[in-house]
Amino acid sequence: MECECDIHRRQMKRPHKVINSGFYLVVLVLLLCALQNISAAEHPDTMRVTLLGTGTPFPVAERFGSAILVEAAGKKLLFDGGRGAVIRLAQAGVSPKEIDGLFLTHLHSDHVVGIPDLWLSGWFLGRDKPLRMWAPPGGRSMAKHLVQAFAFDIRIREAAPDHLPAKGVQIDAKEVAQGKIYDDGLARVSAFLVDHGTVKPAFGYRVDSAGHSVVISGDTKFCPNLIDFARDTDCLVHVAWSAGWKNPTPPSQRLLASAEDAGRVFATVRPKLGVIYHYKDEEGLSSAVRKEYSGPFVIAKDLMLINIGATVTWRGGFSASSATDKDKSGR
Ligand SMILES: [Zn+2]
Repeated sequence: MECECDIHRRQMKRPHKVINSGFYLVVLVLLLCALQNISAAEHPDTMRVTLLGTGTPFPVAERFGSAILVEAAGKKLLFDGGRGAVIRLAQAGVSPKEIDGLFLTHLHSDHVVGIPDLWLSGWFLGRDKPLRMWAPPGGRSMAKHLVQAFAFDIRIREAAPDHLPAKGVQIDAKEVAQGKIYDDGLARVSAFLVDHGTVKPAFGYRVDSAGHSVVISGDTKFCPNLIDFARDTDCLVHVAWSAGWKNPTPPSQRLLASAEDAGRVFATVRPKLGVIYHYKDEEGLSSAVRKEYSGPFVIAKDLMLINIGATVTWRGGFSASSATDKDKSGR
């Protein structure tokens, strides 16, 4: 999609005989674009969230499986590794070898099928240390069996002529319980239990850094424990399968929140920005959230980018109809 910067760059190429105020306006806009990118990528007080995959198990070209990149304090933390995560990382300009930690919300296949690609392509592309992974119980077994499943490729690539380093193909898998699970002194990750019906345990995650935070629900129904862990967060990324009326499964048998449920969570937490992801059906989604919540939210699309600093801004995705520019930064 063309951004304002592209439009202005094209305009810059036109011949100018007179340098007028329009020229200075263009320069100013370009400067602001550049500053925004710099602040997002390098400013230590800014957290950046990229919604790599916002889809479900259903194969849809525009929306890949669950995967969210959080960049905080110089670290690249990936939450879930669903279908196509490595492709979306490449589109976001990130190599799989750069991922400092992989955090799994649960072991449903649509959240993990991209892991072999992330792990092995990261190794192929130069990672020389183990892939660090935090996962619910079962994660260590999965890591061990992935190594077995890809034993042929590992053996071949460790030998001549590739000579890839043995350490780089290891998976350092830790199984998580509720509480703080990662702290490098600048960024902190906490896991918390969510309610994904029969899928137990399932976790959501909260990342805190430089006084800012983002919360990722993972797959869950309406969950009071999530609300407790999400208090005062800047950005709450919450699953919603569909508007309630679009889901033929009776509410008591559902494994995932409806858009109305997500709206109720937003209304209680009051984040600076609510984000809906992992939705199957977009019809009625926005109005269903709006029924319960009057604050700012956005329906995510793949590669939507959120900058969390003194204000929360985003690019890409669909803004809710009544979310205005003012909403972007107001709690
Ligand atoms: Zn699930």
